Amino acid sequence: MTDYSAVRLQSPWRKDFPALTHLREHNQTYLDSAATSQKPQAMIDNLRDYYQQGAANVHRGQYWRADTVTAAFERSREQVARWLGASAEQIVFTRGTTEALNLLAYQLESHVQPDDEIVISALEHHANLLPWQQLAQRRQARLVVLPLTAEGRLDEQAAHALITERTRILAISQLSNVLGVQLPIKALIQRAKSFGAWTVVDGAQGAVHLPETPESLGCDFYALSAHKLYGPEGIGALYGRAEAFEALTPWQFGGEMVEQAQYQKAQFRAMPMALEAGTPAIGPALGWAASLSYLQDQDLTAIAQHEHALLQQLLAGFARRPHIQLLAKPDHALASFIVSGCHSHDVSQLLSEQGVSLRSGRHCAHPLFQALGHPSALRVSLALYNDSDDLQHFFCALDNALELLQ
Ligand code: PMP
Repeated sequence: MTDYSAVRLQSPWRKDFPALTHLREHNQTYLDSAATSQKPQAMIDNLRDYYQQGAANVHRGQYWRADTVTAAFERSREQVARWLGASAEQIVFTRGTTEALNLLAYQLESHVQPDDEIVISALEHHANLLPWQQLAQRRQARLVVLPLTAEGRLDEQAAHALITERTRILAISQLSNVLGVQLPIKALIQRAKSFGAWTVVDGAQGAVHLPETPESLGCDFYALSAHKLYGPEGIGALYGRAEAFEALTPWQFGGEMVEQAQYQKAQFRAMPMALEAGTPAIGPALGWAASLSYLQDQDLTAIAQHEHALLQQLLAGFARRPHIQLLAKPDHALASFIVSGCHSHDVSQLLSEQGVSLRSGRHCAHPLFQALGHPSALRVSLALYNDSDDLQHFFCALDNALELLQ
């Protein structure tokens, strides 16, 4: 195994993200990319061009700009599809992962009967817990929670046993936003499908760092957010297999999703376009496509190697500090930790005063923290633009904080 601890890792991508330069000029180090990412110049240019050259609504105007914007909007859908190894007909735009998962929890409702089981894991983000919890309550179904091992990984044996013929929906994340562990979801999806269950993947973190495609995972639905994937806020997508989309019904009603409307009845567009009601987030869709196109022009293997090397360097730094306890040994891009004898918020306050931006709290996964028996934790999360100087700043600030607090 390569020892990265003494290597000075530089990011060839950093220069493409102007915010990183601005932040460093202000002695700020950004280590919170799992919450939201910084944006490449390509996206910023694209958004400026779109608004400067003329906004137009899509799929309705018959004038020049409406046509060009509609074409660009549909190319954005193709770009998202390409990122996911899918085709454009398998993508609907949503406001983000949260909206995509809520859409599913409403539109799969009629498939869930009393005493059916909806299966999630113990480490889900609230976005992939609460919609299913609420659905279970509405339908008097049971929410089954797949447990973790003492190391913070999914207990595969227990998971296998808990996915049964009673399972109606399996909704599970690909990569934990708290523990940084990748879940072995392919086998679970296969098992759930063998019982005829619907399978839903929360790809909010996985879509950024993992090469797995929804098709390779074999899931019915896959949800993601643009803002974590170097794109703008306010847009994301839901991938669905054609037959899976066919099982849904429209959930929001209005312009765009309708074929023919009369006062007393209406006919809607075919799935999945019947799921996109109203004016979409046009500028953000175009901007997201620009971010994805920027990424696709890079060497994705080199990005994965860089993030891996940075993570090893981060873990090596933690290992040299006896007061640090990791919540789990992460696989990708982020690590959560506690400092014995200190409250996470006190540590993050002292880090913030020294220009380090990271998250402290329960990271939208309250039940996971109850299960782990910790009130909160700090989280460092990495992206392609981070480098060893960022980690050095972080560890320097952490050592200062620990000296003050201990
Ligand atoms: N799932 C996971 C694993 C996440 O990390 C997040 C965002 N922190 C979400 C879902 C929700 O994403 P959004 O807020 O963009 O809808």
